[in-house]
Amino acid sequence: MGVRATRIRRYGNGCLRRTARPVDPAGPETAELLEQLWATLLKDGGVGLAAPQIGRDERVVVVMDPEQKQGQRKMGLVNPVIRETFGPKVSFEEGCLSFPGLYKNVWRPRGVVVEFDGPQGKQTLRSEALAARIIQHEIDHLDGILFIDHLSAWQRFLLWPRFVSYVMFEAWQKISGKERAD
Ligand SMILES: [Zn+2]
Repeated sequence: MGVRATRIRRYGNGCLRRTARPVDPAGPETAELLEQLWATLLKDGGVGLAAPQIGRDERVVVVMDPEQKQGQRKMGLVNPVIRETFGPKVSFEEGCLSFPGLYKNVWRPRGVVVEFDGPQGKQTLRSEALAARIIQHEIDHLDGILFIDHLSAWQRFLLWPRFVSYVMFEAWQKISGKERAD
């Protein structure tokens, strides 16, 4: 069948602000969505991607944990929910494929316990450090929350010209007909 990588939507596209809906973990569409997310993430070389970033309002994310051994790095989380956070809040530089070239320090709890729908029912994952940060960033996307929302109003104000460039890019995608609908 071969699922192809697709375009990652940038800031300014309405799909990034919607609340995503739960999906059927056993459905073939979910498997296909996961495949497409992986294909897109691997092509763009990021560490995480959420379905809303490719214009799909479904609660599915993929996370690459660079601190794991080869073969154990890829996590596909369907209907993930953060059940608990633990440890101190730490600040670390984050980026987002919907904001190319922008990196900012964001404060988040050091660890999370996340529940999701695995192939054999509910699964729980305890995660720390980088993986926990990526998971929190991606689950935020499912509720229309972006990493810039964690910055101060002043920091966001200073980034205004950058935001305009993303918004213009998205507007151009629509006007030029590169994208039929979002
Ligand atoms: Zn992101």
